[in-house]
Amino acid sequence: MADNRAQDLLSRRYRVMGHHTPLFYEKPLHLVRGEGVWLWDNEGNRYLDAYNNVPHVGHCHPRVVEALSRQAGTLNIHTRYLHNNIVDYLERLTSTFDEGLQMAMLTCTGSEANELALRMARFCTGGQGVIVTDFAYHGNTEAVSEIGTAFMPEAKTTRRVKAFPIPDSYRPLDGLGGEPLAQAYADRVQQAIDAFHAEGMNVAGILVCPDFANEGLLNVPPGFLEKAVTKVRQAGGVFIADEVQAGFGRSGRHFWAHQWYDVTPDIVTMGKPMGNGHPLAGVVARPDMIEAFSRESMYFNTFGGTPVSCAVGIAVLDAIEEDNLMQNAVTTGAYVADGLRRLQQKHELIGDVRELGMFFGVELVRDRKAKTPASTESRRIINLMRDKGVLVSTIGVHDAILKVRPPMPFQPGHADILLKALDEALTQVASEGSV
Ligand code: PMP
Repeated sequence: MADNRAQDLLSRRYRVMGHHTPLFYEKPLHLVRGEGVWLWDNEGNRYLDAYNNVPHVGHCHPRVVEALSRQAGTLNIHTRYLHNNIVDYLERLTSTFDEGLQMAMLTCTGSEANELALRMARFCTGGQGVIVTDFAYHGNTEAVSEIGTAFMPEAKTTRRVKAFPIPDSYRPLDGLGGEPLAQAYADRVQQAIDAFHAEGMNVAGILVCPDFANEGLLNVPPGFLEKAVTKVRQAGGVFIADEVQAGFGRSGRHFWAHQWYDVTPDIVTMGKPMGNGHPLAGVVARPDMIEAFSRESMYFNTFGGTPVSCAVGIAVLDAIEEDNLMQNAVTTGAYVADGLRRLQQKHELIGDVRELGMFFGVELVRDRKAKTPASTESRRIINLMRDKGVLVSTIGVHDAILKVRPPMPFQPGHADILLKALDEALTQVASEGSV
């Protein structure tokens, strides 16, 4: 009966959305409710959400829901009138940045934020060339698809984008380590700059996620990013940090992941957790860049920065502070990472464990020496964990890295449930033998 209903909904979905709209799991989940770190399906089964970062302060956080409904019942309108909320919000938001990044523009999605950042970088530098990693995803507009080297066909044909190899300490370039490895990756960025120049194109900038999240939450060789940005700036380009996944305190010690490095971006883009599920995103940049760009190119976004969106944004910032979520990312994050490392000692399949606050990457390999990616096993594990009531997913070039990125109120008790389900799934996959 239940299976028939799920099949019926799936068929209707295919009919109106086509067969290629992404859907998680072999048995897709039909979710009907969320609260904190928990989700419920249409049959009343409960799932621990260890994957979603959009419900940053927790699914349906009462403070956010209350702020949204109160403002929606008072006024919601675009930004061409004066309103306190947008000014209050942007003052709060920009106060989390280092000096020099004190002006903002609001959008509705991370893709739009990156599109705007690219336009601004190209306008302000006069260059066209953009440098990204060779496994990048930054959104879905036309210009942003050109920098989507991971999945987008546009990235294969454009002349305006060049890629450097993902800066990965686990699978290092030429088997190098330490400073020489950082230098080798930075040299690849220089090669991209030189290639643009050889083709008669100037450089607009480098755009990366400071966590290198979609690339697999990499352990970046220390010093690489600073060296790479110096080279880009010497060539006249700017540094765009895409904080769409990484930002809003997820990394624990710092509010923004780029603050772990010794280099301040010229432009920062953000989205996903910003509105806890409400479509709120934006760009924070050097005031001189925003002023120069907006003077020439009228930018207006009908739904970006409405009183409702900004009320939500303020409530999210309040919840991060009041619920002590950055400190929780440090302490619970360390607890989860310890547990994952214990599992690594027990299960050969775990090749590497990486963490940054409340974000974890567990790279699965068939052979620890050869580091053969265990892609099929990864998919099997996330499906087994789903059946055990714990939601995670996969990332990376080979889709063999477990992506564990729970809502920020995740507690040690939740971590125990996650670790137990992962332990059992790994044991089961090992007993099934090689795939
Ligand atoms: N940047 C990064 C790093 C992302 O992961 C994503 C979405 N996965 C985006 C940008 C695009 O954001 P949106 O889906 O809100 O357009």
